[in-house]
Amino acid sequence: MIDHASIRAALPFLPAPRLFIGGKWQAPHGSERIGVQDPTTAEVWGEIAVANEEDVDRAVRAARAAYERHWGHASPSERRHVLQRLAQVVEAHRDELATLESLDVGMVQTVARSFGVRALVRNLEYYGSWCDKMYGSVVPLPGKDPAFDYSQREPYGVVAAIIAWNTPLVFLGSKLGPALATGNTVVVKASELGSASSLRFASLCEEADVPPGIINVITGAANTGQALVEHPAVDKISFTGGCATGRRVAEIAGRGLKKITLELGGKSPQLVFPDAPLERAVAGVALGGLALSGQACAAGTRILVHRSIYDAFVERLVAFCRGLPLGDPLSPSTFLGPLISKEHRERVEGYIRLAESEGATFLCRGERGQAELASGFFLSPTIVADVPPESRLAQEEIFGPVLAVFAFHDEEEAVALANSTRYGLAAGVWTTDLARAHRTAARLQAGVVWVNSYGNLPYTVPFGGFKDSGWGREAGREALFEYTQVKNVFVSLA
Ligand code: NDP
Repeated sequence: MIDHASIRAALPFLPAPRLFIGGKWQAPHGSERIGVQDPTTAEVWGEIAVANEEDVDRAVRAARAAYERHWGHASPSERRHVLQRLAQVVEAHRDELATLESLDVGMVQTVARSFGVRALVRNLEYYGSWCDKMYGSVVPLPGKDPAFDYSQREPYGVVAAIIAWNTPLVFLGSKLGPALATGNTVVVKASELGSASSLRFASLCEEADVPPGIINVITGAANTGQALVEHPAVDKISFTGGCATGRRVAEIAGRGLKKITLELGGKSPQLVFPDAPLERAVAGVALGGLALSGQACAAGTRILVHRSIYDAFVERLVAFCRGLPLGDPLSPSTFLGPLISKEHRERVEGYIRLAESEGATFLCRGERGQAELASGFFLSPTIVADVPPESRLAQEEIFGPVLAVFAFHDEEEAVALANSTRYGLAAGVWTTDLARAHRTAARLQAGVVWVNSYGNLPYTVPFGGFKDSGWGREAGREALFEYTQVKNVFVSLA
């Protein structure tokens, strides 16, 4: 295993108990701290601050002042330049950010580089390029009186961006890009389990001369997030996390009638039809379910396979998954890194025990890492069959490397099974029959449907959930609407 201590020692930036507010690093008022733990080695290698209500208030005031003083009416070209400059600075620190993400949340470094940092850079560039393309519209009027009417989109003001730990850099890009491009200012609340890259990003904002106060980054736990949601000067909340927290956030936001976007959990199905390209489907299904060790909101963990190919497909799937290398996320040969924490691994193992007690058939069973991986929070893949579709294992988001396979007879049954959870984030369809692909996609209750691929998320396409998986959309043009409100202006020409 790579020596993480020496990798850390070579980093120019380490997480510390400081908050980035109003363009400056500030000491927190609160004395509480949270240890930063490397999930690969279980070593605690830093501390972050728990921002208290006073700290939250300072951050929101800084964002409000920056909005009113400057950013809310900055010219589109200025906004574009700021976003593009920031993208360049982030890009220049690609390797370092990817390393930090691996050490902090256990994301495989090559993935952190090609997916995490890349998503942040591309989102900043993409939304930067939207700044001067947000057209309003001239609205035709039904009456005869001479008048002119137009509508345009305006920012909300201060956005609270509350993010999860699994892909922090992706969330920074998908929230900050559209929020800033449309003239809002932002307070980011990073997850207590994954704040390092957000703090480093804050220091890159300094390096990129981002105007003070437009991006503020605070750390802390649930109370910090809640204080942010409750703060009267926050106009809009963009939340990524679990359903239970999302519901709570929506309740609090509802009391203040705050605008809100929710990106929540999932239990996504992948449907494999008899005419699927078999080898490609095996790899795609496995990677779609197990990428990020299954710690992905859109992980396709319910595998529905047509009865006629069930045995052949499942045999290959199991062999493929068994062959996925588990290991140090800093190693380029690793596919499965550790889970985020000891507690989270125990939670995932609890589901495995539950499957056992419910009489599931184990096609392969997750094991903790051995030898040099023993101190980290590793867990190899589990694949179970013969699980009742209404059981907790088939219905609840596990957020770990656990796949459940089911057989279906026909398209009707496949769609019914696919739609049988309260979630509706994503779905995959594996078939070479074009008509079936479109027919099935139309009937799936999911915000994102992939056909003959899984997990492909270009920054230009909208992402978000049906049903309990969320409200609103991130990415693509749609995200611009989440951060703006419509103003209509009627001008009498009489
Ligand atoms: P949580 O819901 O536990 O936390 C998300 C964020 O909310 C964290 O920053 C957390 O702080 C904060 N928070 C916790 N309680 C409150 C509160 N009462 N008020 C305001 N903020 C609060 O989720 P996880 O971090 O464990 O992330 C995993 C979940 O996120 C999974 O369900 C996953 O599916 C979902 N997710 C959804 C995505 C999507 O785009 N749809 C993408 C990725 C993940 P802290 O953790 O510091 O306590």
